[in-house]
Amino acid sequence: MNLERMYECMGICREVHAYGQKIEKELSARFEAIDEAAEYNQLKVLHAMQKCRVSDVHFAGSSGYGYNDLGRDTLEAVYAEVFHTESALVRPQITCGTHALAVALAANLRPGDELLAISGKPYDTLEEVIGIRPSNGSLMEYGITYRQVDLKPDDSFDLEGIRASMNEHTKLVHIQRSKGYQTRRTLSVEGIGKAVAFVKSINPDVICMVDNCYGEFVERIEPTDVGADLCVGSLIKNPGGGLAPTGGYIVGKHAYVENCAYRLTSPGLGKEVGATMGLNQSFYQGFFLAPTVTAGALKGAVFAANLYERLGFDVLPDGQESRHDIIQAITFGTPEGVIEFCRGIQAAAPVDSYVEPEPWAMPGYDSDVIMAAGAFVQGSSIELSADGPVKPPYAVYFQGGLTWEHAKFGILMSLQKLTDAGLAKLPADE
Ligand SMILES: *Cc1c(COP(=O)(O)O)cnc(C)c1O
Repeated sequence: MNLERMYECMGICREVHAYGQKIEKELSARFEAIDEAAEYNQLKVLHAMQKCRVSDVHFAGSSGYGYNDLGRDTLEAVYAEVFHTESALVRPQITCGTHALAVALAANLRPGDELLAISGKPYDTLEEVIGIRPSNGSLMEYGITYRQVDLKPDDSFDLEGIRASMNEHTKLVHIQRSKGYQTRRTLSVEGIGKAVAFVKSINPDVICMVDNCYGEFVERIEPTDVGADLCVGSLIKNPGGGLAPTGGYIVGKHAYVENCAYRLTSPGLGKEVGATMGLNQSFYQGFFLAPTVTAGALKGAVFAANLYERLGFDVLPDGQESRHDIIQAITFGTPEGVIEFCRGIQAAAPVDSYVEPEPWAMPGYDSDVIMAAGAFVQGSSIELSADGPVKPPYAVYFQGGLTWEHAKFGILMSLQKLTDAGLAKLPADE
């Protein structure tokens, strides 16, 4: 059976497949550059593991208090090496990205301090953490105030706005690398470095924290390479490589990471406790695979941008521009477009491919959200997944794919569903 026929058996018609092949052919130079970044980052991770003398004794699990968990402590040394930081906290007890960010904020802010977000409104789930939307246990309830400076219309930092918003209470500056559920551009690491330098020129004592979700290993440098004091992310996104079944990380300056450890566990206990219960091996192995897994996801994002752009949909980033995270936004303009796209991604999954996703009121979000996720790890968005709030402009956010081949299939399946529903039309010459 040839490849085209195999796709047909999997539900992709000849026309959609041919259109996909044509787009893929045009992307060979882009894909080569992605592979080169993966090669570089693969060596970076390998170097860290060799330098930290990772050995199979580190894969043993601890229980109870988790005192002297050598595997856990060495994994943290590996993360610190890769991110070029003094310290790292990498734990299964960090339940998700939001939790990691909430820990980093609550650990380093005290009553009377002010948090300043300089890349606009933070990710939806942080609204309740901060208290932008009133919530039980928010930072606001503890007397921590919040200020926000939006990016300028061209998505650059509003330096004068930042200067005007910094005051004697400003303790921590929040920068979000990825766009999240917004139709703005993702920030480059270089751009983040310039913003950090600007903040430090006004007050060198302000802590600069970057929400690094979805950004890890997309570039050759990370925000901690350009002056960020703290960098935070989820292990069921890029750095877990698809193998970490849960967890989050915080890397950065020793004192700030220590604060996080005291907040995560308890004052006085900090990093000393926290059993890993057999998860160390998947954390190491996932981190080892993360550069190439991220590359596969990145190719999927570039492919989707070019595929849908040519059909007349608004895509962000566009087909040509450089990439700083693995998220691809596609604006369909109708709820049906968002829903059919997500149904296509779901239908392409290795797990739960037979279920039809429906919009629902997900905790932490202010509108109905539809999610396609047929993942081995629940909610893992380094695996092929798509989600979108069902509200104007009806954009879908697509990410992941543990392999490029799977990402490609999922995107073709989404296009198949859209064309079947009459919501997208292939170019006339296909
Ligand atoms: C995913 C994400 C988060 C939150 O992570 P969860 O694991 O879903 O809680 C925060 N910020 C950004 C930019 C994200 O992409």
